[in-house]
Amino acid sequence: MSHRILILGGTTEARQLAGRLAARPDVELTLSLAGRTENPVAQPVPTRAGGFGGAEGLAAYLKDNQTDLLIDATHPYAARISANAAKAARLAGVPILALRRPGWERQEGDRWTEVDGAANAAVALGPAARRVFLALGRQDVGVFEAAAHHHYLLRSVDPVEPPLGTPGVDYLLARGPFDEADEHRLLIEHRIDVIVSKNSGGEATYGKIAAARALGIEVIMIRRPVLPTVPSAAGIVELLAMVDHSLRPVAERGV
Ligand code: NAP
Repeated sequence: MSHRILILGGTTEARQLAGRLAARPDVELTLSLAGRTENPVAQPVPTRAGGFGGAEGLAAYLKDNQTDLLIDATHPYAARISANAAKAARLAGVPILALRRPGWERQEGDRWTEVDGAANAAVALGPAARRVFLALGRQDVGVFEAAAHHHYLLRSVDPVEPPLGTPGVDYLLARGPFDEADEHRLLIEHRIDVIVSKNSGGEATYGKIAAARALGIEVIMIRRPVLPTVPSAAGIVELLAMVDHSLRPVAERGV
């Protein structure tokens, strides 16, 4: 008998997890993406895209598709979908597991200023004009229009449309991972004196944080949002073991 699993994805780990689970003959997998990236990276499994219509919509999807397990492998800052996932699992009576990538820890030499939310990051840049690397998704950068006296370097996967309504912006289109040496060069080339970043965790985007430390550049770090408490793992191997346990018949599990 095959088990139906829905993975809420959009992260590298979700794609890797999907690849690993797709190899199992007893699993029928669907990967769900928010559908905002214009040319998403190819996924190794059947994929659907777009919102479900809140927690109730997701609960209905889980029931309609007779889903046996929901896995929340979304980005650590995607708080709404994670909250919806926890609620939908409860409503539909479907077990849920989450992949919660650990955040970066402050190291000696790091010059971090921690704030809650992008709007507070814009304020924390201060009154004097600075050259800012905005390492944020395009849906998070609008609030920096309120701090138009700074010069911004904005890197995104898709073009920022409409562009930011401030005079000094350099746009850069690129998709990670970005290594430390390249980030080091980028920071020097653009004469960056402060970075605004999320504490995304993982290796793929850590290069800029390490490069900032080496160059003594300040990082305004947007704190992580609070996510619901559900059974979770920090990495794929641990999560796969939890999936195994969750899919075993109750008598075998001893729960
Ligand atoms: P969100 O605010 O938690 O989700 C907003 C809505 O999008 C959800 O309520 C849901 O709509 C839909 N949605 C999100 N993920 C989905 C998925 N996997 N499948 C189907 N529908 C999904 O999340 P977000 O808008 O994606 O992002 C919020 C923050 O996280 C932003 O700051 C963003 O930059 C960051 N983020 C970063 C990355 C990255 O760097 N790789 C990736 C994702 C997000 P319904 O309520 O209609 O179901």
